[in-house]
Amino acid sequence: MMNLMDGNKLSKKILNEIKEEYDKLKLKYNKVASLAVIVYSDNFASKIYVKNKTKICEELGFNSITIEINDKTEEKEIIEEIEKLNNDDKIHGILVQLPLPKHLNEKEILSHISPNKDVDGFHPLNLGKMLIGEKDGFPACTPYGIMELFKEYNIELEGKFVTVVGRSNIVGKPMALMLIEKRATVLVCNSKTYDLDDKLRKSDIIISATGVVNLINRSNIKEGAIVVDVGISRVNNKLCGDVNFEEVAPICKYITPVPGGVGPMTVASLMKNTFKSYKKYVREDENKI
Ligand code: NAP
Repeated sequence: MMNLMDGNKLSKKILNEIKEEYDKLKLKYNKVASLAVIVYSDNFASKIYVKNKTKICEELGFNSITIEINDKTEEKEIIEEIEKLNNDDKIHGILVQLPLPKHLNEKEILSHISPNKDVDGFHPLNLGKMLIGEKDGFPACTPYGIMELFKEYNIELEGKFVTVVGRSNIVGKPMALMLIEKRATVLVCNSKTYDLDDKLRKSDIIISATGVVNLINRSNIKEGAIVVDVGISRVNNKLCGDVNFEEVAPICKYITPVPGGVGPMTVASLMKNTFKSYKKYVREDENKI
């Protein structure tokens, strides 16, 4: 029964489409798209994520700037750096790779990124635009990538009962909003949810974003369900998600693998958002002439 929702394949398709359009615009406007990334360089996972994003920028022909911070970097310095990037016409996207070192206030720092360059889609203005279904903001990358997977695999959302496990600001909550917009019936669960198994067994679609290994197994999904695994955990040096793939895949209609499912789609969404910002900037510049 199982069909794979292949994030590697779809992200490549999306990146190719971006590149094709970007190559033409770059020639027309003679301007390069640029993404600035602020990263806590002592966090190993963050460094790998950023390296991957930088590599994809290179493949697209985007410029990328990486600003490394450490345990001694002060909040003031980062905010000043962000303000500089906000005012730099050559920068189209700014992202702060989380987590930051403990002494820094993430919320405060993120709030300084201009909503016009917030390509991660974490700024309250962009989250608010998504809430009211306005299309001119930047949607949060991970749920946006998941919506692209649903579109690619012709997965109908209207009238479906969808359970989102996890209520984070970057995945669970924006995911629920996007699904509501499509008229799905959405339940958002957390670690205190009473009888999660019962809810999961009734769900047509499950999106799990907890980081709890093997939270979703054969006994708590119904046959023919669609399962999206957002979780990323490292067990014995191997990446795995929230879903026991071996057990669950045979009875699903569709499932995303880890790795190769949601991860690459998140990066593709980031590039889509950066390109959207670039297009807005170059076109506004053209209108000024
Ligand atoms: P998070 O801030 O780490 O929060 C985890 C959420 O899971 C919380 O809402 C928590 O409930 C819930 N939870 C924990 N244990 C649970 C349980 N036993 N049953 C039900 N709910 C439970 O969330 P996040 O930042 O969204 O990250 C979640 C996972 O996704 C992590 O593994 C992360 O690495 C991964 N991730 C992957 C991508 C990607 O591109 N693939 C992107 C982002 C995140 P409470 O609210 O009650 O604490």
